[in-house]
Amino acid sequence: MTLPHPALSATDPELAALVGAEEQLQAETLRLIPSENYVSAAVLEASGTVLQNKYSEGYAGRRYYEGQQVIDQVERLAVARAKALFGVEHANVQPYSGSPANLAVYLAFADPGDTVMGMALPMGGHLTHGWGVSATGKWFRGVQYGVRQDTGLIDFDEVRELALKERPKIIFCGGTALPRTIDFPAFAEIARECGAVLVADVAHIAGLIAGGAHPSPVPHADVISTTTHKTLRGPRGAMLMSREEHAKALDKAVFPGLQGGPHNQTTAAIAVALHEASQPSFRTYAQSVVANARALAEALLDRGFDLVSGGTDNHLILMDLTPKEVPGKVAAKALDRAGIVVNYNTVPYDPRKPFDPSGIRIGTPSLTSRGLGTEHMAAVADWIDRGVTAAGKEDEQALATIRSEVAELMSAHPAPGLAG
Ligand SMILES: *Cc1c(COP(=O)(O)O)cnc(C)c1O
Repeated sequence: MTLPHPALSATDPELAALVGAEEQLQAETLRLIPSENYVSAAVLEASGTVLQNKYSEGYAGRRYYEGQQVIDQVERLAVARAKALFGVEHANVQPYSGSPANLAVYLAFADPGDTVMGMALPMGGHLTHGWGVSATGKWFRGVQYGVRQDTGLIDFDEVRELALKERPKIIFCGGTALPRTIDFPAFAEIARECGAVLVADVAHIAGLIAGGAHPSPVPHADVISTTTHKTLRGPRGAMLMSREEHAKALDKAVFPGLQGGPHNQTTAAIAVALHEASQPSFRTYAQSVVANARALAEALLDRGFDLVSGGTDNHLILMDLTPKEVPGKVAAKALDRAGIVVNYNTVPYDPRKPFDPSGIRIGTPSLTSRGLGTEHMAAVADWIDRGVTAAGKEDEQALATIRSEVAELMSAHPAPGLAG
């Protein structure tokens, strides 16, 4: 099933066919990548509007181009909704994506060569938290904390010791492969002790926070950085939020420090997503994401899978496939052929290489957006189990069988924005 794109089909049938193929792929497959989601038809429409045609460097009421009668209102609406939803004094909705949003934080609070601290990428952190291959690790001195090998959890004694020894200007908490609740008050205490700015990078969990399914970093973190396209279910974009005292520094860092004109069609779609996230139904959604992840984790444990930290508190499950004797990449590629889209991922203390690691990372935001509930999680775990077994045996027939079973359930649960 594909959506009508009459103008695109007439002008560029080749590209229109590719869009149709992607629509079909998204409709038929079970998307378990925890950083992905399906936006609503309303968010899709907003992000494809003529707002795209307007330049508006600066901020509402302080622009460098005329003709901002409407754009100023759009941006003010998005900002007001962000402030109301997250309970913050200041919001900047202009960062192009999560990585530039984080870069703006560095620009606001540190100078090149300064020490910054974040979680190591292979432990579940993000590239932009000071990891070596990232500009943030090349231009700043990144010191990195991890999780304990025995528990898979952050060791706050280790974090405190490292912070007091290294005296970072900025401490990042949050990450990309953390299946457990982030203890914002504990990080805030450490940041206070060493005089660092605490940045809560909630890119993965912003929707859970908005829906009351994860504790809020407000008022503990000095700055909150988030993408808008993961659990928050908005367009690809980002936001920076803070108390009023940091507003000026953050705004200056985003523009003119780092970016030129904001992507106004994205700002509009962020406003729509924030409106959707403020509805009672979104609270239900966020709770269901977590309930589904818990049920899926239980079902996987029942089938003998090894989960980092033993389970999950949020939307994400990190599986160590070492006991199954199937490398993460082999499993991920086989599951993809079975219509189950995951990503291979390092696990903490992974003896294998990042491009060929031991684990896979899965999550429930997308399947919950399609209306799947805890009653479906045994079937999902079963498919993963059979898929991983088939991967080990190179059993393509078994993968094809799973693919058709998956497609059948997916056709009964059309994705938002694709329901056509
Ligand atoms: C996804 C993510 C980012 C980066 O977002 P992009 O939009 O991909 O640049 C930053 N930090 C965390 C914790 C993330 O999960």
